Amino acid sequence: MMTCHGPVLLIHGGAGVIQTDLHQDRRATICKALSRALREGYAILQKDGAALDAVTAAVVVLEDAPCFNAGKGAVFTHDGHNELDAAVMRGVDRAAAAIAGVRSVRNPVLLARAVLEHSPHVMLLGEGAEAFAAHRGLQQVEPTYFHTEARWQQLQRALQNGPQSAVGISDPECAYFGTVGAVALDRHGELAVATSTGGMTDKRWGRVGDSPIIGAGTYADAHCAVSATGWGEYYIRSVAAHAICVRVAAGQSVEAAATAVINQEIPAMGGSGGAIVLGVDGSYALPFNTEGMYRAWVSGTGAPHVAIGNDEEKL
Ligand code: ASP
Repeated sequence: MMTCHGPVLLIHGGAGVIQTDLHQDRRATICKALSRALREGYAILQKDGAALDAVTAAVVVLEDAPCFNAGKGAVFTHDGHNELDAAVMRGVDRAAAAIAGVRSVRNPVLLARAVLEHSPHVMLLGEGAEAFAAHRGLQQVEPTYFHTEARWQQLQRALQNGPQSAVGISDPECAYFGTVGAVALDRHGELAVATSTGGMTDKRWGRVGDSPIIGAGTYADAHCAVSATGWGEYYIRSVAAHAICVRVAAGQSVEAAATAVINQEIPAMGGSGGAIVLGVDGSYALPFNTEGMYRAWVSGTGAPHVAIGNDEEKL
């Protein structure tokens, strides 16, 4: 377990990385995007800003980077659309909001944030969420904005190889999850989380994963904040993020709680993935059971760390 005092920010760009598929320039692009997101989020924390502002800012950067499965660069549905999900939560009062199945909002995390601040609801879906985005004046884009060739080809492979490959199980080339998320602890001792995703390649019938479901892929209370990435169906069934927070509130260490849920409970059910977990004492854990998880963190000393596999990347 790692512990520290002062502001802490952890981010992820998704679990499920196949290391050997990562060419040097792609690795560098990913590390650059992670570093930038970390910098933007941490700058807010250093200026005594709120954890919720820091996680939102970090996730906006990751949504705008085409190398992650969120915002631009999101995966395609079976029908060739990009349907985006996002959620935010503040630990101290458990204020939370989420959106799902949105096709035209440039930054889904900003829409989730607007739902939290300007609506009486917790979760908005599809066209209604888009109408709310227009009402709030959020930037809307043509659906083609989200199109990237790599994700389009990923869908073509999934369509050829059958439904199993859609969740990255039988075809290693499809085994990228790539959801993004951030958890932060600010100088006031408050925690917050944000998660954003395109879901899973080849998803159908309005499928919604764990990311926008409060308690499954995203959760924060006064003790702990969690953003998850992985095979969403299993994270929903295990109410993963909430399960970790319940363990921490009961006195388990962040490391033990995170490991028990991510690396024991979920794999025992047949699922896989990872999470970033941050305690109110500054302790944190970034467990995953896939070959890699794009992740970065900054704590006490202010020095940024970026990692993909087990070892840290040189910055
Ligand atoms: N958990 C996400 C989902 O199932 C996918 C991911 O983490 O990349 O929608």
